[in-house]
Order: sequence, then structure tokens, then C-alpha cells
Amino acid sequence: MAKQLEEKRETVSVLINISCDRCGKDCKCPLGNMEVATIRAHWGYSSGKDTEIHEAHLCEACYDETIGTMNIKVSVREEGMP
Ligand SMILES: [Zn+2]
Repeated sequence: MAKQLEEKRETVSVLINISCDRCGKDCKCPLGNMEVATIRAHWGYSSGKDTEIHEAHLCEACYDETIGTMNIKVSVREEGMP
């Protein structure tokens, strides 16, 4: 009798915690989801940073303070809206 081999493939998703790059606080909320702002810049050849990728994460409190004190204009739209 031939043995049948059954291949099982499972997708495992792991939510990795992210710490705020300003205050160090964990960005994972008690419900388990991540509440974090990501600031990302991919600099090109003609910039002074020559192809470097810069990325930082901010918790909600640091995001609010940074946006407020630096007077940054943020475009806001509802999720799922174009
Ligand atoms: Zn923070």
C-alpha cells in the first residue's frame, strides 16, 4: 500500500511590534493592531543622499506633536476613499 503524502501549506502572519522612533513607546495598541505613522523618503541620485532610503515610525502622540509644532500640512482622507 502506497503512502500518500499530504502537503500542508499554512500562511502564518506575525504582527511585529514597532517602537516609536521619537519616544520609544510601543505602537501596538491593547487591541493588538498597530497605530503608527511611517515617514519614508527614497532619495534619488540627484539628491545629496544619493539613493538612501530613510524611514521613521511615530506613535500617535508624537505624530500629533510633530505635525503640530512643525506646522506640516497633512492631507487627510477616509480609508477606502480615493
Ligand atoms: Zn512616540
